[in-house]
Amino acid sequence: MSAINKPEKSKPKIAMLGFDAAELSYIQEHLPMLPNFKRALSCGRLTRLSSPAQMFPGSVWPTFYTATPPGEHGIHHLMQWDADAMRLRRVSDSWIPCEPFWRELERRGLRVIALDVPMAFPPKECAGVEVSSWGAHDQVNLFTAYPREIKTEILRRFGEHPMGIEVPVDKSLSERMHVRKNLVSGVALKGEMARWLLTSRPWDFFIAVFGESHRGGHILWPDAPDGESSIPASALLDVYLALDNALGSILAAINLAETTVIIFALHGMGANLSQEHFVTPLMDRVNAKFGELEPGLFPAGHAPRQRSVMRLLRENIPPWLQSKIAPLVPQYVRDAVVDRQFTSGRDWPHTPGLSLRADNNGYIRFNLAGRERQGMLERGSASLARYSDLVRESFSSLRTVDGKRVVGDVYFSSEKFPGKRMGFLPDLIVTWDGLEPASRAESTLGTVVAEMDTGRGGNHRGVGFQIVLRPGSEQAGHEHLNEPLAITELAPMILRAFSDGGVI
Ligand SMILES: [Zn+2]
Repeated sequence: MSAINKPEKSKPKIAMLGFDAAELSYIQEHLPMLPNFKRALSCGRLTRLSSPAQMFPGSVWPTFYTATPPGEHGIHHLMQWDADAMRLRRVSDSWIPCEPFWRELERRGLRVIALDVPMAFPPKECAGVEVSSWGAHDQVNLFTAYPREIKTEILRRFGEHPMGIEVPVDKSLSERMHVRKNLVSGVALKGEMARWLLTSRPWDFFIAVFGESHRGGHILWPDAPDGESSIPASALLDVYLALDNALGSILAAINLAETTVIIFALHGMGANLSQEHFVTPLMDRVNAKFGELEPGLFPAGHAPRQRSVMRLLRENIPPWLQSKIAPLVPQYVRDAVVDRQFTSGRDWPHTPGLSLRADNNGYIRFNLAGRERQGMLERGSASLARYSDLVRESFSSLRTVDGKRVVGDVYFSSEKFPGKRMGFLPDLIVTWDGLEPASRAESTLGTVVAEMDTGRGGNHRGVGFQIVLRPGSEQAGHEHLNEPLAITELAPMILRAFSDGGVI
């Protein structure tokens, strides 16, 4: 193990440039207009990335930065079910602590700059530079920066990022065009900030993520199954043109002769084919049916009541008004509204399971005695098995009016993602069969009428990509024809590169 006779290795420099939920096929389709992505693809090595996004799109960033699957790190969404409090709650470091791998680099004495990595909790102490939730699509916390004085400097130089929060309601064309404008100007600001951070201080590892590709994909997807406001194809393209421009200016600020650059997206984007709007109304029927089938389980024998004032309000306040109100109220108030939408009016002894906040698939949580504070179904009981069967059969039975299957499959997350924190995950994941969102479906429990009303014309796809530019290399770009690389492999690859000069 002696280092004698070993040649001195030069210390690597690595820059990771993330384009959150950017879609490779969209980039490739528009390559003539995206000269910097084009150059990267022609000089670098392209590899597809596999991730848990097909099941839990909200888990990809913690999966990447902890190098563990969702059952181990426990994060699947920004707003998760807290079984002790019987409520939905924003994930936080104090509740579900997860440490990103670059803190280990800092402990080794390396100089780290991390800018807006989604779903990464800000540090309590930080030896490097870390900016969190300045311009992120999913804001896991309020804007924070280390060292502390840098926050003032950022606000002075760049101001607030114009992206703001996403209010999940239908949007008019003019509202979408306003989103486009904010994303385009936000990308330019983020690019400038990245350049400033890169050139104003020394670093060994740099990571910056553009959340605008994620928000833009959701709100501006051009093939959106959205009859009311057809979105001009130029809207999303404008965001990608801005991203390409920012990529070029960041690459120009990096000494490419001595730096490995990884351009990456952990998952992708496509037209929104989610049927998530059916989950809550169908779960109401499942619970009512279960009350009829197993009256002995329910105190006083009556069937579950599901009357949520918040749900009624949410469904009856016009979307434009919700869009106006939401950004004006503090984050904790918005979180309370989301929670009440799913939990208000719940009579827990009469609620064997509930739908959780989701983004594409359906998420269902059982109300288990001993796990949930007011749980009612016993673990391992015949009742739980019958309830689980009823949920799965009811969802599998969903058909469109012309008889097509709505649901792809219903999975147990404990089978897909076993691990020490799988108790933080939903119990069931409902996936869809690739149809455009329907507004009416037949089931064994009757007709369910519900509209997709999230304002999202685009939604997640499971496959991401990375383009690796090795120092000084102008290698002929070619796609790795091997299996996609799992996103859990990326952090170990970086750590190895810094510890023993491992090649990326
Ligand atoms: Zn998303």
